[in-house]
Amino acid sequence: TPAADHVTALLASYQDFPETGILFRDLNPVFADAVAFRTIIDELAERFHGQFDAVAGIEARGFLLAAAVGYAAGASVLAVRKGGKLPGSVLSENYDLEYGSACLELEIGQLPEGSRVLVLDDVLATGGTIAATSRLVRRAGYRLTGVGVVLELTELLGRDRLGTTPLHTIVAL
Ligand code: IMP
Repeated sequence: TPAADHVTALLASYQDFPETGILFRDLNPVFADAVAFRTIIDELAERFHGQFDAVAGIEARGFLLAAAVGYAAGASVLAVRKGGKLPGSVLSENYDLEYGSACLELEIGQLPEGSRVLVLDDVLATGGTIAATSRLVRRAGYRLTGVGVVLELTELLGRDRLGTTPLHTIVAL
């Protein structure tokens, strides 16, 4: 796709970041290119057109995608935040990362029961982050109708952790 061509051309890779043995993929150069960014947003919004009422972005780069897709589609936007940053009534999920462990949280009561939620993030690696977010969305009483990522690192098999939820990947490496 045109979006995939932009991602492939602009993606940067860093060996041994943030730890020895990790090949870190940096999508910032992709987001920094206006045409590439718009093309990515358009592909994600089109793929899930009519299938979501809200877009949930995962801190931090997922926020960039969710805000833009939400605006483009006229949908609500939810922020799935790292642990300890949200006030009020919050759901928490702990999970293992490719490197280390983490906690994600979602405030409850923001959307009507049964709202259809599209989850967006920049990279799908082991799938722990998306799996934890999926649990938050469901525990909050919403329906997870899709997951979109810009880059899927296929050798880490994250896709296998998503069950039957439709996954759209712009580039798979
Ligand atoms: P997972 O939980 O192992 O699927 O890791 C996905 C999360 O870690 C996402 O929120 C990504 O932002 C981040 N992540 C994992 N690997 C990379 C990478 O190579 N580049 C950028 N972010 C990454």
